Amino acid sequence: MLGDEAIALGALHAGLSGVYAYPGTPSTEITEFIQNATGYGKETYIIGGHELKANGKIHSRWCSNEKTAMEAALGMSYAGKRALVCMKHVGMNVCADAFVNSAITGVNGGLVVLAADDPSMHSSQNEQDSRFYAKFAMIPIFEPSNQQEAYNMMEDAFNLSESLKLPVLMRVVTRLAHSRANVEIKEKANDENKLNPDNGRHWVLLPAIARKNYLSLIEKQKDMINASLSSKYNKLETTKQNAKLGIIACGIGYNYVMESNAEDVEILKISQYPLPEQKIKDFAAKCEKILVVEDGQPVVEEAVHGILGAEYSILGRLNGNLPRTGELNPDSVAIAINAAITGEEPKEYPTATSPINVVGRPPALCQGCGHRDVYTALKEIVEEYKDARVFGDIGCYTLGALPPFQAINSCVDMGASITMAKGAADAGVWPAISVIGDSTFTHSGMTGLLDAVNDKSNITVIISDNLTTAMTGGQDSQGTYRFEQICLGLGVEPEHLHVVVPLPKNMDEIKQILRDEINYKGVSVIIPRRECIQTHARKLRQAKK
Ligand code: SF4
Repeated sequence: MLGDEAIALGALHAGLSGVYAYPGTPSTEITEFIQNATGYGKETYIIGGHELKANGKIHSRWCSNEKTAMEAALGMSYAGKRALVCMKHVGMNVCADAFVNSAITGVNGGLVVLAADDPSMHSSQNEQDSRFYAKFAMIPIFEPSNQQEAYNMMEDAFNLSESLKLPVLMRVVTRLAHSRANVEIKEKANDENKLNPDNGRHWVLLPAIARKNYLSLIEKQKDMINASLSSKYNKLETTKQNAKLGIIACGIGYNYVMESNAEDVEILKISQYPLPEQKIKDFAAKCEKILVVEDGQPVVEEAVHGILGAEYSILGRLNGNLPRTGELNPDSVAIAINAAITGEEPKEYPTATSPINVVGRPPALCQGCGHRDVYTALKEIVEEYKDARVFGDIGCYTLGALPPFQAINSCVDMGASITMAKGAADAGVWPAISVIGDSTFTHSGMTGLLDAVNDKSNITVIISDNLTTAMTGGQDSQGTYRFEQICLGLGVEPEHLHVVVPLPKNMDEIKQILRDEINYKGVSVIIPRRECIQTHARKLRQAKK
């Protein structure tokens, strides 16, 4: 199974009642697997050649964004059932309000938040580490080192969530989510929890109640630490008693350390947090120095500096023993271990592409994609206005930043195209043009459009509607066939709302509408609508089956 599939099946076998998610690489396949497992009306589904019983009762639709997903999952937990929320790491920023407060309300049914981090930014705008979020919210983390642990941990995470009455974060990285291994699974799935809505007042975060809840969260910290201390996922491995070098290996970093076949080292595997401090102190007492191997940011390394003090020799990303950025791999970890043992400078680390001699393939919009026609028209019009700026957003159309179009000037976060265009227009930029996709618009663009309408901002918004969430593989888009109503409802004037079909034959019409609306002093919205050709082809293939 893929790591993502192991997580999904682990959740199903743990008695899951609902998954809530917004698609985002590398987490998307979890929800897709659960959707498949609900059977689409079929009795069974197939995984790894095995036929498993489908469960059509499990909720598994996509959500508008990660915040709505988190809140819906919290509602399911409130009702006593087990709920899973899935997202890529930057989705944690979107759901942060609900996520942090869910630690204060506590949970009823088990609630697991799955964050899939993307070190090296294979498909992301940063490589933030979700473990910081769990530490910030003061809740436990599970971080599997392989697919089998990913499967096993789901049940343990739900059990811990219910015993502590807290949400639990499960953190994985791209390489684990998107690589395959054999996984042994349970013979029989747990039954779902019975409906049992909580009616305690601790769900009402008025200050007097929140203060009490916060104290209770603080008191639970010792239970969380005890759970980490006794966790089967935090274990000692020794190749040599009292070796000089100790390695703290976290999550998938443990796999890389084991692949290095290092001798004469002691290894402390960490896959459950908060950090078992006493275990780390005992471990350090047996070694002369410690190398911390963790994929992502130096979360554990920083903490270990605090636990062991300034005198202790701690190696890792912070001192340059491992690369400061990007994902780890077995080669970089082997080099770091060797350098740590010999005390020499680490030799040059292989880059992600250097071991394999393949020609670079920069991403590009598919031939025939509607976004191409949008950018062809936009690029020509923008050249007519010397001060024009185009604010982009996140989706396939971000590729409009690359040749041959080079048509957008920014791409920051989901929905930022509209609000950044608004801010720039407020500052005097004209024309200020926003390009946003349909799914990104319903994710985080609608509120920005409302601000622009309320402020009568002088912006032109292009909602490039391909009827799907294309970049992540064609998941449902939440506003399909309702964008005109949504825009009108938000206050866009009907005469400045246009729908066009982005095809070469309509180029003159599209360019004239763009010119007219750029010259209009207010909010205008143009919706080029044509289905993603990949989604369309997929539908045709499915229809033939
Ligand atoms: S997947 Fe669809 S939307 Fe994305 S570039 Fe290809 S055709 Fe265009």
